[in-house]
Amino acid sequence: MTQKPTTNDTVADLLQQIRRCRACVETPRGLPLPHEPRPVLHVSATARILVASQAPGTRVHASGRSFTDASGDRLRAWMGVDDETFYDERRIAIAAMGFCFPGQDANGGDLPPRRECAALWHDRLFAALPPFDLILTVGRAAQSYHFRRLGLGHLLAGGLSETVAAWRAIRTAHPVTRLYALPHPSWRNTGWLKRNPWFEAEVLPELRRDVRASLDRAARLCEGEGTYKKETAEWPK
Ligand code: SF4
Repeated sequence: MTQKPTTNDTVADLLQQIRRCRACVETPRGLPLPHEPRPVLHVSATARILVASQAPGTRVHASGRSFTDASGDRLRAWMGVDDETFYDERRIAIAAMGFCFPGQDANGGDLPPRRECAALWHDRLFAALPPFDLILTVGRAAQSYHFRRLGLGHLLAGGLSETVAAWRAIRTAHPVTRLYALPHPSWRNTGWLKRNPWFEAEVLPELRRDVRASLDRAARLCEGEGTYKKETAEWPK
C-alpha cells in the first residue's frame, strides 16, 4: 500500500509514526523482516543537506545511528566533516531508502532496502521537509528514488559509473537542489575508487565546497535567521 503525501503531515508527526512502524513484520511484501524493526533516520526542518543512503547494516541496526562503521568514516572524509557535524541533524539529514536493517542473504550480504519503506513513508516525508540545498545519493536505490522525485530520472540512463562521471551536469540539473550521485563508501568499492581517480581528484573538492556552503546556511537558520516559507517555497537568503 502506498501512502500519499498530505499537506497535513508535520515532520514531528511523521517521525513518531515511522519510529512505531512495524509494516515489514505485520504486513510485509514477501517474507517478513526476520527481527524487530528499528527505524534509523535523522531529519529536521533546518537541515540543508540530505545524505540519502541504502539501508542500515548490522552495526547501524545495533547502534541506532547511521553510518557508525568504516563506510561512515569514508563518507565523512569525502564530505570533509567531523562526527559532530555529521550527526547534527539540525544541519545534516540522513535518510536511507529502507529505515530498518533488512537482514542478510545466505552468503552474509545485506539484503536490499525493504520496498515497504519507500511506499509508506518517503513521499510523505520529503513532502513535509523543506527542499534541501544539497542531496548526496549513495547507491542506486537512493539515486533512482531521488532523481525521479526531482524530475531528473532521465539522468540515470547509464550504470553507476556513468552516472557518477556525469557529476557536473547532475550537480546543477535541478534549480534548487544540488545533487550528487556517489558510489557506496563501502570497502567493496575501494577497487572502483582506484580505477576512477578523477572521483577523488575532481568530484570530492567540489562536493566539499558545496557541503561547506550548505552548512553555513544551516548554521544561520539554527541561529534563528528565518525559516522556510512553505506558502512561497522560499528560504531566507
Ligand atoms: S523498513 Fe520502513 S516500512 Fe519496514 S518496518 Fe522499518 S520503517 Fe516500517
